[in-house]
Order: sequence, then C-alpha cells, then structure tokens
Amino acid sequence: MRVGVVGAGLMGSAAARHLAKAGCDVTLIGPDEPEDKRSHQGVHGSHYDEGRITRHNALKPFWVEVSAASIARYPEIEAESGIAFFTEAGALMAGSDARMGQVDLAAQLCGVESHALGPDGLRDTFPFFDFPPDFSGAYERRQAGHISPRRLVAAQQKAAAEHGAKRLIAEVRGVEGGRVITDDGLLAFDQVLVAAGGWTDAVLGRPPQLDVYARTVALFEIDAEQAARLASMPSLVYEAPEDPYLLPPIRYPDGRIYVKLGGDPEDVRLDGPEAVGQWFRAGGNADVRDRLEAMIRALMPTLAIRGVTMDACVTSWTHDRLPEIRRLDDGLSVCTGGNGAGAKCSDELGRRGAALILEN
Ligand SMILES: Cc1cc2nc3c(=O)[nH]c(=O)nc-3n(C[C@H](O)[C@H](O)[C@H](O)COP(=O)(O)OP(=O)(O)OC[C@H]3O[C@@H](n4cnc5c(N)ncnc54)[C@H](O)[C@@H]3O)c2cc1C
Repeated sequence: MRVGVVGAGLMGSAAARHLAKAGCDVTLIGPDEPEDKRSHQGVHGSHYDEGRITRHNALKPFWVEVSAASIARYPEIEAESGIAFFTEAGALMAGSDARMGQVDLAAQLCGVESHALGPDGLRDTFPFFDFPPDFSGAYERRQAGHISPRRLVAAQQKAAAEHGAKRLIAEVRGVEGGRVITDDGLLAFDQVLVAAGGWTDAVLGRPPQLDVYARTVALFEIDAEQAARLASMPSLVYEAPEDPYLLPPIRYPDGRIYVKLGGDPEDVRLDGPEAVGQWFRAGGNADVRDRLEAMIRALMPTLAIRGVTMDACVTSWTHDRLPEIRRLDDGLSVCTGGNGAGAKCSDELGRRGAALILEN
C-alpha cells in the first residue's frame, strides 16, 4: 500500500515510522525547520525546541495511557535511530489537594508509579521551589523528565528511513482523497494521513475545527555552576491560572543553558494560516514574557538569571480536548490535536494514525 503522510513533525514522523515498519510504501512529506524563523514565509511546526515535559501523570486517564505507551517505546526509537532524545530528570505535578486528587485518581486507574508529597515533602525534596503552603505534589522519579522534540523528530525520521520510508521536502497546498497537491505537482497514494499540526485545517481545506492558540515561552539563561546546583530539578507543571510548565536546565544549540517557563494568561486564538505564520515570525509576546519572569522569580527566588529571551509556538486544541485521529473519507485520514500535550505521547498518537490506515 502506498501511503502519503503530510507533516514531518512529531505525529507525522511517528506515523511514518510505524507504517514503514508494517511494510507500507511510505512517503513522509513536509519541510524541515526553517533556518530563520523570523523571516520564514512558509509553514512552521510546534517541535522547534529542545525541551518538552514527559511523564505519565495527567489530569485525564487518556493522556496517561498514550504517554505510557509512548514512553515504553522511547528505548526502541533510540535504538532504531541511534539518536538519544530522552533525559530522565523526573517530573513533578504540584497543586491544591483538589487538583492532586484528580491526578491521583488517574494514576491509580492506570497504575502509574508516582510518589505523593505533602507540603513538607515538597519543600524538603525540592528546596529551590517556593510553592504556596497548601500545595502537595505527585513526583515520578523514573521514566519521566524531558525530551528534545527536535531530536525525537530526527530519530523517528531516521528510523522510518531505515524501515524504507521516503522523504519529500515540500509544502502541501491541499489534499483530495488519496491525492496530495504540492508546488511540484500532484502525488497519488492509496491512503493519505494528514498530521500538519496548526496547519491541518488549511491542508484539509476545511472550515476551522481546531483552535490554534498563540503560546509564548520565556527562556532564562543560567550558568553552568547554577545548572549543577539544580541537577535534581525535575520538569514541573503547577496549578496557577496560566497553567505553567517549567523545564530544568537544558543546553540549547547556541551553547547556553536555559531554564524554560511557559504559561499564557489568556488563550489568544489565531484565525487561519496567515495569522499562525505571522505569530511564529513575531517570536512571542513581550508582556507574557515579563509575566513569566515575575512568575519564575516568585517560584525560584534563588535562581540567578543571566538573561531572558522568548520564543513563539502554537498549540492546536480540539473541542473535546482529545486528539483528532480519524478517517475522513476512503483515502484520507487525519492525526492531529496535541491539545498542548502531544509531544511526550506523539509516538502513540502517530501509531494510532498508522493503525487507522492499516485498517483500510
Ligand atoms: C510552547 C509549547 C510547549 C509545549 N510543551 C509540551 C510539553 O512539555 N509536553 C508535551 O507533551 N507537549 C508539549 N507541547 C505540545 C507539543 O509540542 C505538540 O502537541 C506537538 O508538537 C504536536 O505535534 P504535531 O505533529 O501535531 O505538530 P507539529 O509537531 O507542529 O508538526 C506538524 C508538522 O506539519 C508540517 N506542516 C504544516 N503545514 C504543512 C503543509 N502545508 N505541508 C507540509 N507540511 C506541513 C509542519 O512543518 C510540521 O513539521 C508544547 C507545545 C508548545 C507550543
């Protein structure tokens, strides 16, 4: 079976690996990360970064299940590709008893190995965090931490190629059943899977079904000595109106070490591909960056920050807050809707997209 996968990001690259492994004749179609995002006029992806939190714990059992399935295959992907992308730094969720009760229920239902920490336990284990006094935590020491989304994409693509998948670096203008339209012409497949992240509605040429939200992250540069002092720092999400997420020290391609904090005070919807492109080129919102700086100074009062930069990204949300992985017609299926949580579990989401194709 000839399968075209549109979108060489996290889900598309995962789907391509699974399809090629299953013996399909796969072509993965999509551009690489642009060299200069600020001037790039084409499509962008939500994986142009070095840090994404990975863990089993979640507020909803669905995300626990797909994350567990993916994390269990990280060693397989690393072995097939020879590319390491996972750092077992541990992961912490912290919040009020009501919030942590929800996490605990999902963990019990799905058998997650996680340690409950009361307010004193949180303070003793992570003295560098200053949480509100009523916060408790759920801490995963093993099989949790962070992944490099860039390196995961590279690993999936290398492994897919090892299994025989072809790669076409091109932007897709549209799809019609099993046909894919690019600037270079029309390609015919038995099945097409569209996994184009924030551009999925545009590629499918359908009225907007995903809410694509602008996201700003702030990167706080620290020195190597400080990074060594924070060696036990896990990745963290904690309860606050901005839904903040914090990555421990990571060395970026510019050679510098950053702690990264994200979390937006409001969901700003980007209407259409032009608005999404403009947002990536804008590089983030300075007001959100300043708010994030105030937040990290409150959460980690002893952190010595050398400099602050920001970056832009988008998250794609479905109305039921679950990924959209379904067949649209005989030759066309879709795999999208990371809902802000689709990196850690992208291998399983891509596998589910591949499974849809194999059922045809
Ligand atoms: C700031 C931020 C922080 C996040 N933090 C986390 C986290 O800590 N943990 C976590 O699990 N998740 C996190 N996420 C979510 C995660 O990154 C996304 O859910 C994930 O990237 C979605 O994968 P995807 O394959 O759907 O989209 P993408 O990774 O964006 O891939 C889509 C691909 O489609 C391609 N494409 C688009 N249009 C076309 C076209 N016309 N033709 C060809 N190709 C096209 C793009 O080039 C891109 O490569 C975060 C997201 C953001 C923005």
